[in-house]
Amino acid sequence: MKRIIFLGFPGSGKGTQSVLLGQQFDIFTLSTGELFRSIVKDSQDDEVANQIKLLINQGELVSDELTFEVIKKSLPKGSESWILDGFPRNVNQAELLENFSSPTDVVLIDVPEKIIFQRLTGRRIAKKSGKLYNIYLNPPKQDGICDETGELLEIRTDDIPEIVEKRLNVYKKETFPLIEYYQKKGILHIIPGDLPIFQVQQHLKEALQLND
Ligand code: AMP
Repeated sequence: MKRIIFLGFPGSGKGTQSVLLGQQFDIFTLSTGELFRSIVKDSQDDEVANQIKLLINQGELVSDELTFEVIKKSLPKGSESWILDGFPRNVNQAELLENFSSPTDVVLIDVPEKIIFQRLTGRRIAKKSGKLYNIYLNPPKQDGICDETGELLEIRTDDIPEIVEKRLNVYKKETFPLIEYYQKKGILHIIPGDLPIFQVQQHLKEALQLND
């Protein structure tokens, strides 16, 4: 059984890597960021959804209580396998999780901060095709337009530079301590993240001893 937590700056690629790993090994995968974004999208007049939206757009964290409620509802209990992307975000959340279902492995996708800034502020999304672009690193052929569908590319509201700066500061203050927390438990793996997706995946599988 594998219960895997992904740590890393926003934009480190942990979302991509966790989904790929989950698909390949058929493990339940949950991203709290994705979950919150879908709550916001699906319940626009709801007070809680509006609160979540405000916090996300300001680059702040949603409260631990609310986040853990969402986790408890979604995560398989006990010893079943799971992959979490974006949770826990601080030591308090890590401790709440310990009492519910404890991780067997924690993966830190390590990417230097200056690369992260470019990855996040340059990120553009094509909702219909599901394609991701980056105006600096992987631009579309025509500015602002998806190569596949011709749809207009969107920017996540929290990927604008001032909010990205805030998110990175929140990560350093709140989430950095988790690296030591899990290192002390002896379950932390540090994976180089400034590599092509496929290579990061290889490092990841090696560290987690998951074979194709
Ligand atoms: P992400 O897609 O992981 O960058 O998350 C986007 C936003 O969702 C974050 O900036 C937070 O506002 C919120 N969020 C995601 N996960 C958590 C969490 N574990 N605790 C609190 N807020 C979270």
